[in-house]
Amino acid sequence: MLVDRFGRPLLKLRVVVNDVCNFSCVFCHFEGQRPMSGVLSPEDIGFAAMVFRKLGVGDFKITGGEPLLRRDIVEVVREIDKCGPEDISMTTNGLLLERLSGPLADAGLRRVNVSLHSLRRDRYRRIMGVDALERVVRGIHMAVDSGLQVKINVVLLRENMDEVPDIINFASKLGARVQIIELMPVNDGLTIFDKMYVDVNRLVDLLMATRGARLVGTRRDLHNRPVLEVDGVRVEIVKNWNNPTFCAACTTMRLTSDGKLKTCLYRDPVVDLYPAIRARDEERLMDLIRRANSLREPRWRLEAGAGAPANRHLQ
Ligand code: SAM
Repeated sequence: MLVDRFGRPLLKLRVVVNDVCNFSCVFCHFEGQRPMSGVLSPEDIGFAAMVFRKLGVGDFKITGGEPLLRRDIVEVVREIDKCGPEDISMTTNGLLLERLSGPLADAGLRRVNVSLHSLRRDRYRRIMGVDALERVVRGIHMAVDSGLQVKINVVLLRENMDEVPDIINFASKLGARVQIIELMPVNDGLTIFDKMYVDVNRLVDLLMATRGARLVGTRRDLHNRPVLEVDGVRVEIVKNWNNPTFCAACTTMRLTSDGKLKTCLYRDPVVDLYPAIRARDEERLMDLIRRANSLREPRWRLEAGAGAPANRHLQ
């Protein structure tokens, strides 16, 4: 297992499989991407996954762009599955889930995070730029029916804070989980930050005071995320902004669609893996991954917290 200079193991990899999207969410951080120089094929991704796996990475999260827009997305999942991962999941806007859930589950996908920032049609369209709520909800049902574990991703905004209990209720009926993500001031997220940002701690306080929310755990394996139980639903709190405790348990890196490794969403790609992946050069790829790992550093540090509002809700 690789461990960085700050004692943080590398356990997970976000695999950004494309840079295109069929939505235009008002806050999109674009996973901090840049124009592509060449896209990794499913076999390239499978090879990279195998090497990461040998270095101790067990969880692979497929994201984009919008990953379901890749015509070979089922193949991508199948290739990653070959390395014997502990988990393969995907983050998607869900528009194409109705058709693809079954094939994705058959290929080895286990979990899906569907971004659903509102259940009100007008608001959904305003936030996500597309009038697609009904179709996405059908896709979510299909994902559940296909045996995928579903988590609903909600980016918390001033505009949708009042809807969180409804979304939790929706998840409860499906046996799904919820993840509340604090708005990040990156790319479009920066443009609307002053107008839309809400500290997730405010929501947690509100859920505790009005919905009987209880703290039932903390995800030490990922960002020290507080886990609440609200009306029988597990709700993860992603307080990513200005939070040293979040960075202290960062266990992940990002592989961009053109084969570069990013140590942090807030940083430019640091190491280009593309040539080594294309050459199927396992030894060189391991060296490059080790080099990138040695460059990982927390965006916010505990000792340099300077009064930063950390997770107040930790178990
Ligand atoms: N297109 C897919 C989707 O919409 O889920 C996957 C890519 S999207 C960049 C990955 C996740 O990041 C989604 O849950 C999205 O809502 C979230 N996200 C995007 N921009 C964000 C921001 N500025 N702050 C916090 N979360 C953001």
